[in-house]
Amino acid sequence: MSGSNSLALVTGPVRACPVCGGEILAALQVPNGWTTEGGKQVRGTSEVLLCERCDRDDPVTGPIVVFFTVHEQATADQADELAALLQRWADHAVARRPDLQALDAEVDAWYRGEL
Ligand SMILES: [Zn+2]
Repeated sequence: MSGSNSLALVTGPVRACPVCGGEILAALQVPNGWTTEGGKQVRGTSEVLLCERCDRDDPVTGPIVVFFTVHEQATADQADELAALLQRWADHAVARRPDLQALDAEVDAWYRGEL
């Protein structure tokens, strides 16, 4: 992995998915930050989980689930393939952070009685 977004792959004991109770195959720490109206930077991280069941049908995470199902443990010559899949997932996960401007617009519309 390139680490361009200071992503960390979390490894450790097998965890259960909070949604379905399935096995968590991998977890990502992604930076999660935004600027408040006063111009203050808020920084934190959020964790993105990869569940063997919930994420199986997703076009981004599905191939990772398949990879782990087929290979169980990545060998050296498979590491590049896995790294590419994980990087794609990481990029996607970072892009999915909340869109605060869209949220503000919705709140404004609500105050105007348009919703
Ligand atoms: Zn799940």
